[in-house]
Amino acid sequence: MAKRVFNFNPGPATLPFEVVEEASRGALEFNNLGMSIMEISHRSKDFEKVIQEAAADMKELLGLDEHFKVAFVGGGASLQFAMVPMNYLREDAFADYIDTGEWATKAIKEAKLFGKVNVVGSSADKKFSYIPDLKGITFNPGAAYVHVTSNNTIEGTEFHEFPKTGGVPLIVDMSSDFMARELDHKQFALIYAGAQKNVGPAGVTIVIVRDDLLARGKDKIPTMLNYKTHIEKESLYNTPPAFAVYVVGLVMKWMKKAGGLKAIEKVNREKAKILYDAIDGMSAFYKGTVEPGSRSLMNVTFRLPSEPLEEAFVKEAKAQNLVGLKGHRSVGGCRASIYNALPVDGVKALVELMKDFAKRNG
Ligand SMILES: *Cc1c(COP(=O)(O)O)cnc(C)c1O
Repeated sequence: MAKRVFNFNPGPATLPFEVVEEASRGALEFNNLGMSIMEISHRSKDFEKVIQEAAADMKELLGLDEHFKVAFVGGGASLQFAMVPMNYLREDAFADYIDTGEWATKAIKEAKLFGKVNVVGSSADKKFSYIPDLKGITFNPGAAYVHVTSNNTIEGTEFHEFPKTGGVPLIVDMSSDFMARELDHKQFALIYAGAQKNVGPAGVTIVIVRDDLLARGKDKIPTMLNYKTHIEKESLYNTPPAFAVYVVGLVMKWMKKAGGLKAIEKVNREKAKILYDAIDGMSAFYKGTVEPGSRSLMNVTFRLPSEPLEEAFVKEAKAQNLVGLKGHRSVGGCRASIYNALPVDGVKALVELMKDFAKRNG
């Protein structure tokens, strides 16, 4: 096999190699059925086991009980921007949103199609380079829900704590830090996450809904866009993205073997510390783009002294098998996405290059 690179892409992103290997076997033959996982019926016992185990393992890892239901749906996290308000925001009602980046802004745009939106907190004034102080935010007790984006993939910021919204359901777009750290996941009434950042391939989005919110949903909406459909039918109302669900299931097994969220978080913190320490230690050359108190564990954004140097750095990195380091076009600079499956050695190799590059070009 060709040498495997360290993949710092923001999404689709690196997967555990064990998972890729196992998936490649499943892509040839599954459970001695004489067929691959891509060819079996989604109504078969074999596939039912795959999808049920994926959901059960996920709930176990997240520490969720019977009040929470998992659904695997298509359409990407972007469809969730619309599904959330379509299900829970009535025309005469309003929802509270915190605007912390491009993805949050897109979620707000969709919600406005269905009802009134209060942007109760925003970091747009400083190019989304920080997470607003929750103490300074007044939430409306009458809101249909509060929506936050836990990790801002493009900008490189992350919520380190979440608002206490009392009786108002808290909804989170967790696409880019889903299952990256230990959290009290029970505080969220709805979690959604595109799989392709941290837990699988593109094509499937994980949606986890708490009973109380599920019961509040609107009824006169299209069947396929109603959360109740996917929850009640256990993601088998129609043909789910079966191969993607299968790979998510393999990632869940890998996470359990790795020791669960506690162990995963420990490694994630180690990787982030190595990288942020390097940036701070060479601050004459590298500049972190976000406030240190708001830094993401997953997407580390930084700039070099000039755009030509940034281009040269990304190119050199690629030549050393460190790929995907170019920042998002709206932010520029560099971004290292260091999701769960990115090994510590990848971060160490990146830091070695950063040191060497700064010495030669500083
Ligand atoms: C990637 C991403 C999205 C969009 O995901 P798609 O699956 O491409 O629609 C939404 N929110 C966040 C935080 C993301 O990182």
